[in-house]
Amino acid sequence: PTGAESFKFEAEVSRMLDIVVNSLYQNKDVFLRELISNASDALDKIRFLALTKPEYLAAEDKLQVQIEFDKEHNTLTVRDTGIGMTHDEMVSNLGTVARSGTTKFLQALKGSEGSESSGDISQIGQFGVGFYSAFLVSDRVQVASKHPDSDAQYVWTSANGSSEFQVYKDPRGETLKRGTEITLFLKEDCMEYADEQKLSDLAKHYSEFVVHPIYLRTETTMEVEVEDEEDVDGEEKKEQEDDLEVTDEEDTEATEEKEKPKKTKEVTTFDWEVLNGNPAIWTRPKEEITDEEYQNFYKVLTKNEYMDAETWTHFNAEGNINFKSILYVPRDVPASWQSGLMEQDATGLSLYVRKVLISDQFELLPRYLSFMKGVVDSDDLPLNVNRETLQESKIIQVIKKKVVRKALEMLKNFQKESDDAMKKEDEPAEGEEETPKTNKYNEWYRQFSPSLKMGAIEDEPNRGKIMKLLRFKSTTSNGELTTLEKYVENMKDWQKELYFIAGDGVESVEKSHFLEPFIEKGVEVLYFVDPVDEYMAGHVRSFDSKNFKNIATDNVKLKDDEEDEDLITRRDKFYKEKFKPLTKWLKKLYGSNVMRVSISKRLVSAPAIVSSAEFGHSANMERLMRAQAY
Ligand code: ADP
Ligand code: MG
Repeated sequence: PTGAESFKFEAEVSRMLDIVVNSLYQNKDVFLRELISNASDALDKIRFLALTKPEYLAAEDKLQVQIEFDKEHNTLTVRDTGIGMTHDEMVSNLGTVARSGTTKFLQALKGSEGSESSGDISQIGQFGVGFYSAFLVSDRVQVASKHPDSDAQYVWTSANGSSEFQVYKDPRGETLKRGTEITLFLKEDCMEYADEQKLSDLAKHYSEFVVHPIYLRTETTMEVEVEDEEDVDGEEKKEQEDDLEVTDEEDTEATEEKEKPKKTKEVTTFDWEVLNGNPAIWTRPKEEITDEEYQNFYKVLTKNEYMDAETWTHFNAEGNINFKSILYVPRDVPASWQSGLMEQDATGLSLYVRKVLISDQFELLPRYLSFMKGVVDSDDLPLNVNRETLQESKIIQVIKKKVVRKALEMLKNFQKESDDAMKKEDEPAEGEEETPKTNKYNEWYRQFSPSLKMGAIEDEPNRGKIMKLLRFKSTTSNGELTTLEKYVENMKDWQKELYFIAGDGVESVEKSHFLEPFIEKGVEVLYFVDPVDEYMAGHVRSFDSKNFKNIATDNVKLKDDEEDEDLITRRDKFYKEKFKPLTKWLKKLYGSNVMRVSISKRLVSAPAIVSSAEFGHSANMERLMRAQAY
């Protein structure tokens, strides 16, 4: 068309497109999920913007998605009445500006299989480049779009395999009142997508939790009888003529038999079938929602179809401020988190105010709970304020507090249920091997403990609750994880402090001479083998009003039940005098490198030990600080 401008895809985008279009990846269905998700995003955006600019809805007040196909021309169209794109937005959003996710997606493709061409393309949406999945199934992709601020409707188009795209004013005029229409010219081997059943199944699956209505244009062909007026007239005349000629009764019957069969004609009617009927899942009663539905919604929230939730909570908060919410705990730390591939800021909950999505990354949870995903929907929040003002609002503060409480309660229940399941004795069926049970919470905790420990440090008001979620190995836990509450239960009558030993691993702390007197006396010592443990203990100081105590410091008194106090004091005095020449000599030898040389009361097999001052840095802390080059 005249006035068409050509643009080169940005280099990284071009590279990614090459890989996507040449991929051997089999599951091409994902393109539909990505197009529906973009349409839904665009609808969320217009609804949000219309709060302050209601005139944006003037041209079209319906917010919907339409899917249409044309079997004859092998095209598939996804149309939305969302925000649309201006000319410049089309140029930048669909090709010339690389998104930070592009490179990361390429990395992830490589990482998943080792070869670029067979990687898992279905993750494309998580990296903010889902649009390009349209080329999995298309020879050419055409986007027409009309933004409310735009002077005209523009077209973007690019052929599969091309390093360029064109943008031009739509010669058809403004066929869209507002929004975007994406037309896919399907590849020869992808014609299956121009099919009602296929599209209906796929779109239903992918749009289950989309809050905007999604329609599929359906075709119904019926055979209808036609009474061809002229013909009928003609026959009537003929009959009349026959009547005149034929007098014989039998002959009359014969003529009737010869009468032509009734004429029929194929009539095709079109209809828009709505594919997603359910109201938003969080507004539905819990009893009616299956685990599978909850899991599916979680996949939508995480944009990751392989992510499973470990547990969730669905509640209605009622009181001065009402809201509905579902919160999820992931089963695993996403691989993309660990490798730093995921956008760092892709955390937060989806916040809806009166059905309007305000943000899908709204900060309602503190940093240490940022692994949780979910949705909060409240009618009590003001709509006509921007996100920043909203973040500061008192109502949000109240919601936040409640959400955190619910989140911690969910973890507490999860912990309890897992422990209870371990206690339950289910007899193995006859002839069946007893399978060793695993504590689900422990499995989960191994991955997420750093977050909880961070919470214990940072969230003072909830510290008590968070500390109860922590687990450690100890001298008496037989390699299992134990809780601080259990530790307290096991404390000796005389014991006033929570003893721990810190180091870089269970194996190394187990060898420590500091442990010997504790083991001998059956006093439990916690193993603080995670770098953050000792730091945390120093920060939180106590649990259940009992202070944490590093047994490698110099002021640990182990009460010896068997002996009487007097005897001990006298014996200590005696040794102190007897070894004075040695301690004096050692102090002189080490000089200012040691604070003090003294007679120990707690050595079993080792002749001497270097310990830390009670209030100084412990050896383990020194090690960590050196490692971090403070
Ligand atoms: P993401 O959706 O994660 O941003 P995509 O590659 O799917 O990444 O889309 C890229 C961008 O193109 C979107 O951020 C949006 O700006 C624009 N876009 C895509 N589809 C639409 C649409 N239907 N309506 C409006 N803008 C769209
Ligand atoms: Mg997208």
